[in-house]
Amino acid sequence: MKSRTKAVVIGGGIAGCSTLYHLTQEGWTDVVLVERDELTSGTTWHSAAQVTNFGMNQTMVGLKTHSINLYQELRDDPDYPVQYNHGDGGIRLANSEAQMDGYRHFASMARGMGVEFEVIDAEECARRHPLISTGNLLGGLWDGNDGDIDPASLCQALARRARRSGAEVYRQTDVTGLTQHKDDTWTVHTNKGDIDCDVVVNACGYRVNEVGAMMGVHHPVTSMEHQYFVTDEIPGVVEAGHRMPLLRCPISDYYCRQEKNGLLLGFYEQDCKTWGMDGISPDFSNDLCPDDLDRVTDVLEGAFERMPALMEVGIKNIVNGPITYTIDGAPLVGPIPGKRNAFCIIGLRAGLGEGGGHGWLLAQQIVHGEACYDTWVIDPRRFTGHANVELTALKAIEDYQNEFRFHFPHEHRPAGRPAKTTPLTPVMAAEGAEFTVVNGWERVDYIRPSADFHETHGFWFNEAFDVVARDVKAVQNGVGLAEVNGFNRFELTGADRQTFLDRMICGRVTSKVGKVGLGYLLNDHGMVKAEATIAHLDADRTWYGSAAAAEFHDMDWLTQHVRKDEDVHIRSLTNDQTILVLAGPKARDVLTAVSRGDWSATAFPWLSVRECFVGIAPATVMSVSFSGELAYEIHIPNAQLYAAYLALRAAGQPHDLHLFGARAIESMRMEKGYLHWKADLLTEFDPFQTGLHRFVKMDKEFVGKAALLARQDLGNQMKLVSMVLDTDKMPAHPGASVMCDGQVVGTVSSGDWGHRVAMNLAYAYVDPAFAAEGTTFDVDCLGQMVPARVIAAGPYDPAMARVRA
Ligand SMILES: Cc1cc2nc3c(=O)[nH]c(=O)nc-3n(C[C@H](O)[C@H](O)[C@H](O)COP(=O)(O)OP(=O)(O)OC[C@H]3O[C@@H](n4cnc5c(N)ncnc54)[C@H](O)[C@@H]3O)c2cc1C
Repeated sequence: MKSRTKAVVIGGGIAGCSTLYHLTQEGWTDVVLVERDELTSGTTWHSAAQVTNFGMNQTMVGLKTHSINLYQELRDDPDYPVQYNHGDGGIRLANSEAQMDGYRHFASMARGMGVEFEVIDAEECARRHPLISTGNLLGGLWDGNDGDIDPASLCQALARRARRSGAEVYRQTDVTGLTQHKDDTWTVHTNKGDIDCDVVVNACGYRVNEVGAMMGVHHPVTSMEHQYFVTDEIPGVVEAGHRMPLLRCPISDYYCRQEKNGLLLGFYEQDCKTWGMDGISPDFSNDLCPDDLDRVTDVLEGAFERMPALMEVGIKNIVNGPITYTIDGAPLVGPIPGKRNAFCIIGLRAGLGEGGGHGWLLAQQIVHGEACYDTWVIDPRRFTGHANVELTALKAIEDYQNEFRFHFPHEHRPAGRPAKTTPLTPVMAAEGAEFTVVNGWERVDYIRPSADFHETHGFWFNEAFDVVARDVKAVQNGVGLAEVNGFNRFELTGADRQTFLDRMICGRVTSKVGKVGLGYLLNDHGMVKAEATIAHLDADRTWYGSAAAAEFHDMDWLTQHVRKDEDVHIRSLTNDQTILVLAGPKARDVLTAVSRGDWSATAFPWLSVRECFVGIAPATVMSVSFSGELAYEIHIPNAQLYAAYLALRAAGQPHDLHLFGARAIESMRMEKGYLHWKADLLTEFDPFQTGLHRFVKMDKEFVGKAALLARQDLGNQMKLVSMVLDTDKMPAHPGASVMCDGQVVGTVSSGDWGHRVAMNLAYAYVDPAFAAEGTTFDVDCLGQMVPARVIAAGPYDPAMARVRA
């Protein structure tokens, strides 16, 4: 066994084998994999191993496409062919129009990644899958790439190829401890001796938290028991003359694929069980949980109705094994928060289908610092401090129970709520608030107009449309108050903080005390990494503000860039303070009534910051506006938040102060041309592609500058455009394809109705040939080709007169 290597991958399931193989593909060949038992002795060995192309965002579709292409290559390798049934096809069933709409949207989104799904009716479903009945069925989504693979030979093939490139695999090698050294390198302690390395990767499946504990972290991953059975031969399968397509049923929560001449049926029962919450026996290896088919009778009934042939056939064998889940159902693939040179590829619940792609994206991140796609949807830093084992278990159960029922836009399910609140949450609830959830925070979406108001979740504009219109009008004509909790806020101190920020940000950010500026941080490839509001409170303190979910992400990026000789200290205040946004032409009157001092436009112009009191509460006020109206962001310590709120409500009474929420803010930011981090601001695009020219100063030094310069020779890069859609029926949902003459020419990044300009607005990244103002094309919205036109960004008050008023 080597005593030193570049990277040690811990775990020899699909996650570890794929990572090892892809590390060698990305150029790291001095790498090893350690496995406590034999390869595939965790969940991988007993997987149903279906491989699908379906994903709810482009990153997932892209990484699954990579899996499928790789698995085909391995199948066709004459030296070691892997058993892979590719192209059986698969159907996701639907019995509601809302589900069908979702499929239409996912088909539009996948087209942008070169993947063609088909939305088919019930008769066509039955024609393609001869064993199913059409009762209570509207149709489904057809994925022609679906199939299944032999997990053991897949992992062996990946390990074999990695070995041929120089990697080594140590079986029967149990990792017993991890030590990180001052220079950020690691020692991996095993029962066979120590291995020193630069980078460690946790790919330990359901034992993720045993290895996590060795480096002092807890990963929000838990396991559920999950069962399938395999039937005896079914005559209808033999007679069909082709392999059965896969089935996924959100009506009765099962999946099904062909196994030999019978079927394999897997269940997501309501009466589900977590597994291993109190520890896992060290002897649980190549092992299963006891069968328990009684638990799944509810699901079985639905499956029998859909496929009556199942009632005629015996069960050959039953498999019940642990499967891992995270808080939002997507895995954790990327850097481990708060650690250096430590990565994970964990929480995979469809690891056979996705594993090829996850290992690919992870290896790119390890070797190059970033992957070809923006990987935020699988980034381990997307949950912050609240993501503990209890919350993960609650969300895992809920997710398991809804396995094939995707979330509709604005839908937030109840388990594990509320996770993060402020003293105002119950106050807002009493006002009738409808809450959205942002990184665990309960944030007011809007105030319901009546106690029985109910929003129908789906892809069309719905009952909330008029409520948002009311909120926007109130802010535009008078004054509104919104609680915006959870925003990320770091306090920077130390003599070198200004030079540090200047190096991190690609533009020129003010260094004046009392001033606020907006800046963008690039990664080493010159792509957009983060967006920050910088506010200099006094000669000693600077605040760095960013998106609610950015806390761990931005903290890692900043701290990793502080040089050893620099006097810079960063401390998070994210959970200590909350923002109250006061917006509208009367905002100054309200603020003046509760806070001493001169709040006039000359004394406190746009982009200023001042510490003061709001009533009796200490406050940090910034004159910044996401709404496009005169506005103040009032940051209040949580202990005094209620007091500040009461003072503002009282001062606002003569002006009919109106409570508004995130939904109105979203509409208003679209009208102003403002962008959202991880919707419109992505690591797949540089700041020029994103239209951030005025925030880039090439005459100064900054992280990512050399790469950004080099990119300017590339030419012909996708560009972000604003557009208006010719429909008032539905917004353009993120991922929708922009089409011209039947070709995909772009992808929507976000969209919403602009109530002040009465336009259906969206942003999209498009081929540069389609980026000029006035260009027309269609957007595939739920299968309809909706005409759209490129407009100048920010159609509301482009002169910024209202903000500066
Ligand atoms: C019943 C069932 C059906 C499924 N069906 C499908 C399906 O149809 N399609 C699909 O895509 N997915 C399916 N899955 C999920 C899929 O099987 C998993 O996502 C995948 O196998 C997880 O792989 P992994 O490498 O992350 O974990 P594992 O396979 O569990 O591998 C982790 C490895 O780490 C090793 N390890 C742990 N601790 C240590 C240590 N301290 N030192 C060294 N080694 C260690 C373990 O021994 C193990 O080999 C199914 C799962 C179940 C349970």
